[in-house]
Amino acid sequence: MKRCFSFLCIGLFLILSGCGAPTVGDVGAVRQLFAMDTLMQITLYGAYQEEAAEAATAEINRLERLLSRTRSDSQISALNAHAGDGVSIPLDPATFELLSLAQDCTKETDHAFDMTIAPLMDAWGFGGQQYQVPSREELQSLLLLVDGEKLLLDPETSTGRLADPGMSIDLGAIAKGYTARRLLALLASYEIDSAKLELGGNITALGTRYDGQPWRIAVRDPKAADSYLCVLPLVDATASTSGGYERYFEQDGVTYHHIIDPATGFPADSGVLSVTVISADAVQNDAFSTALFIMGADQAVAFWQEHEGFEFILAKADGTVLVTEGLEEDLEFRGAENGYTCEIVRR
Ligand code: AMP
Ligand code: MG
Repeated sequence: MKRCFSFLCIGLFLILSGCGAPTVGDVGAVRQLFAMDTLMQITLYGAYQEEAAEAATAEINRLERLLSRTRSDSQISALNAHAGDGVSIPLDPATFELLSLAQDCTKETDHAFDMTIAPLMDAWGFGGQQYQVPSREELQSLLLLVDGEKLLLDPETSTGRLADPGMSIDLGAIAKGYTARRLLALLASYEIDSAKLELGGNITALGTRYDGQPWRIAVRDPKAADSYLCVLPLVDATASTSGGYERYFEQDGVTYHHIIDPATGFPADSGVLSVTVISADAVQNDAFSTALFIMGADQAVAFWQEHEGFEFILAKADGTVLVTEGLEEDLEFRGAENGYTCEIVRR
């Protein structure tokens, strides 16, 4: 009788918990991890949320092993180590796909985004070395190594190689966006239709929250980590933020941040504090946020006017926050209390 009661209890528990199916108020399956040099959190809702969360975590770790340039066994390290020596490196389909998407973004942004920026990152100490201000001569010679179109990709053999010695790849501006894309495909195979993927500065909302309300995101004040510039709903879209405040050092009263302008070799000095790009394409989104930061406000507006399919929020050093018209209706501007003014940009 006692045994029968136990079985009944287990059965009842399984029915109530729907064998893992979430109910309104359920917190979902949540995982936090440190990967790709940043804190990540994924929140998933669906009948198979736990299995999906495990698979998603494994995929993030797998991508990091392929794409990191600080892990000596990654495919990016192999490409970098063989730069200019003619050896083609066999690439996993994910690495190959990301590199060709990155090359497209390089062309599209007229090289504001360029994944072969690594030699300059190292010269400034952003590759894990000691921070330092390189000489102009050093920067000029390193700039000759920056050209993402000199990554030679062969789709027939799924291999790649860097054309010139000394070239090297850093996917820091696009890898998290690509990870979001891979995770969305993976989550679909687990029938997850409600998720929030917070991958450092890239936040992807899949569907709505489980209670049917849109996911909501806050864009932080680039000058004050505990204040917001704005709050907005996000459904089936990614918001990618690039900001000089994310990584920087100071020397002789000057601040040097980690987003390098491939036209000068210096940290972009475009009068921009942060840019958040919003679109359904997580990969392009991540690359564009970095590129618009480098372009500066006027060029960013012109770029947006020429390209359909994305919106942006751009905070200028003078306190103006440009918001493209597609966000006007839903965005709650919160920057006024810190002295920012909001300006809507139209096509
Ligand atoms: P994000 O936060 O997406 O703007 O990415 C910034 C990171 O991208 C930096 O920490 C570098 O790893 C890398 N990066 C810096 N400048 C560039 C550039 N001009 N093009 C591509 N990647 C860059
Ligand atoms: Mg980026």
